[in-house]
Amino acid sequence: MRKKIVAANWKMNMTQAEAASFVDTLLRELGDANDVEVVIVPPFTAIAKVSEALGALENIKVGAQNMYWEKSGAFTGEISAAMLRELFVRYVVLGHSERRMLLGETDEIVNRKVRAAHEASLHPILCVGETLEQRENGRVEEVLSTQLRGSLAGLGVKEIQETVVAYEPVWAIGTGKTASAEQAQEAHAFIRRTLAEIADEGTSNKIRIQYGGSVKPDNARTLMTQPDIDGALVGGASLDPRSFAQIVQGAAALAEK
Ligand code: PEP
Repeated sequence: MRKKIVAANWKMNMTQAEAASFVDTLLRELGDANDVEVVIVPPFTAIAKVSEALGALENIKVGAQNMYWEKSGAFTGEISAAMLRELFVRYVVLGHSERRMLLGETDEIVNRKVRAAHEASLHPILCVGETLEQRENGRVEEVLSTQLRGSLAGLGVKEIQETVVAYEPVWAIGTGKTASAEQAQEAHAFIRRTLAEIADEGTSNKIRIQYGGSVKPDNARTLMTQPDIDGALVGGASLDPRSFAQIVQGAAALAEK
């Protein structure tokens, strides 16, 4: 049984004060949601604040939105995996479509980051997903397969198993258009089949695949009841601690069954 994982991608939002207040409210709203793994992914500047506010809580972890693959050196503006580890970061979002589109990140760049993250014992949340044009041209499987194979190249089975994959159709991110549960399940099942080809079936069955793209409290549960959807990567709705808590509680209710 795969433990559901729900992550809050704050993107370029939240000051340190706002982040501390978010965690305060979230902890009050959530109560006991131990059956779900929760990851808060603040901007770099608020990571230390969130880690401090969470203290020793085990089921809520901290993530980062990006990292560089080199260990140190003349890379102005970049952050290494060890720097993130120092702030108690456990997950790192890699290959997000906003970075692929706005900053030109390729599968090769994402692959370097994924490998460096594993070397430093950080778990990547690897984002893959097609654009609307690619979907309309019947290229969903080709795009997902290329992104998965490129980003996971050279990884061992253990590392692949410890990677979380996030299926994020680009046309659903921040648009209010969610993939239907059937569309999402179809893509997730394809991702799992591809992971079985890249690694093996046993490994693929253990990998958690999140759905991301306009997830809200009112659609999260339906999406997460699908057999291959193991959680959510939430952008917009994760900025409100009450909305985010409702999404986590939706996942927790499914875990109890
Ligand atoms: C995201 O950016 O990862 C995302 C899923 O955003 P939103 O929930 O706002 O669509």
